[in-house]
Amino acid sequence: MAEEKKTRLSPKEQPADVRNNNFNEVSFGYDGEQAKMEAMRCLQCKKPSCVGGCPVGIDIPAFIKYITEGDLAKAIAKIKEKNSLPAVCGRVCPQENQCEKVCILAKKGEPVAIGLLERFAADGERKVGVAKAVKAPPKGKKVAVVGSGPASLVSAGDLAKMGYEVTVFEALHKAGGVLVYGIPEFRLPKEIVEVEIDYVRSLGVTIKTNFVIGATLSLDDLFKDGFEAVFIGTGAGLPHFLGIEGENLCGVYSANEFLTRVNLMKAYLFPKFDTPIKRGDKVVVVGGGNVAMDSARTAKRLGASEVHLVYRRTEEEMPARIEEAHHAKDEGIIFKTLTLPVKLIGENGWLKGVECIETTLGEPDQSGRRRPVIKEGSNFIIEADVVIAAVGTGANPLLLKATPELKLNAKGYIQTDENGATTMKGVFAGGDIITGSATVILAMGAGKRAAASIDDYLSGRS
Ligand code: FAD
Ligand code: SF4
Repeated sequence: MAEEKKTRLSPKEQPADVRNNNFNEVSFGYDGEQAKMEAMRCLQCKKPSCVGGCPVGIDIPAFIKYITEGDLAKAIAKIKEKNSLPAVCGRVCPQENQCEKVCILAKKGEPVAIGLLERFAADGERKVGVAKAVKAPPKGKKVAVVGSGPASLVSAGDLAKMGYEVTVFEALHKAGGVLVYGIPEFRLPKEIVEVEIDYVRSLGVTIKTNFVIGATLSLDDLFKDGFEAVFIGTGAGLPHFLGIEGENLCGVYSANEFLTRVNLMKAYLFPKFDTPIKRGDKVVVVGGGNVAMDSARTAKRLGASEVHLVYRRTEEEMPARIEEAHHAKDEGIIFKTLTLPVKLIGENGWLKGVECIETTLGEPDQSGRRRPVIKEGSNFIIEADVVIAAVGTGANPLLLKATPELKLNAKGYIQTDENGATTMKGVFAGGDIITGSATVILAMGAGKRAAASIDDYLSGRS
């Protein structure tokens, strides 16, 4: 393999000691010249393994070839045949575990930077204006979509293109789900999500915010109002807590609350925006996933002098994307692995520190990862005025409680068949509400499948 094919081009990014003081995007992405050079690394394989690694089956070599030819319009059109949120996916998809993992170049060097090229094509389109989609004639049937995360946006967009009259009902005051309330601005600028949502609106989709299905209206009410099918994409946003003494102290947040206050309510601009948040000086984040990394990096940007990331296994077992863990370390986050918090210590109701205990790794548990085992007597204290628990989430419960007809699986998520049909007639579901917390692209894939099933159902084909 020629030497220049082995390594990929790295885009410019903000230096770590600058970016950990601001909320601007970390990576600048490729410029035109870099994108072309990186695209030329692709071997245009006859049997491209990368396509099999993409959860939505994008024709990767085809869009990359258009980039080498400088034809951005065709590149983005090719991507959009399968993926309607490319600017989002180009930034947050775990390509290292998907298409890039199986790229042939990865065998002897670095894979083609497929995600960065997708981002380049999508950003290029945004600059010249997003192309209008072709819509089928109106079918005269109404579909309701509950939630406005990636599963719902894709489902709503596909159904609108098929000619259905689609209304999205979102509980929060802003549409986008985790893309706006969870993933921070420095990884996914809100302006980009806004463009994708505007595109869905441009297809004729109505988005009603501050509208909680299961409280304001029930699923039955929707059917009574003339909706003939419903897609549920309510996500898995119910935070798990640490379950240790001291969790009610002031200064203890779930990652969900912390990130929502910062992202959606712009708490980092307080008092300009009226959403207070405790800006910790010494912050402890508990967890090892993307949500933990996002929380730690956000706390640092809010001005913390010290941010510890406490995780009970080693870095090898961390579920976070490798890139995010690297970025966090570069920005000064202190990784305290093989460590378990056992008690939150307070004074006059306010958090003062976290008592931890060291762990070692034992036999693998059900997840296949080695189980942390406590080292008796190894307790120590980390000083902290803010603790953020990023230890997982469960199904958003409100709609489920209000709709006992929906059958749930053992973990409390909605049970569906492989096409997204639930146990209620005319009700389909997809995304985190059926799988538990997963990824944007998997949620999108579920939304797409469910839209096709809803079309089959409403057309009498199923
Ligand atoms: P969500 O995005 O959760 O959207 C559900 C929406 O439904 C919400 O807006 C909610 O308010 C609304 N809702 C809930 N109940 C009701 C109701 N009763 N009525 C009306 N509306 C309701 N994935 C990646 O691929 N890459 C990443 O880098 C990544 N980072 C992440 C970082 C964070 C902090 C978090 C929390 C998640 C991250 N994920 C990442 C996971 C990814 O964002 C989710 O898998 C994805 O957003 C799930 O999409 P969804 O449409 O199923 O639900
Ligand atoms: Fe290009 Fe890699 Fe896909 Fe082959 S596997 S077509 S080199 S991106």
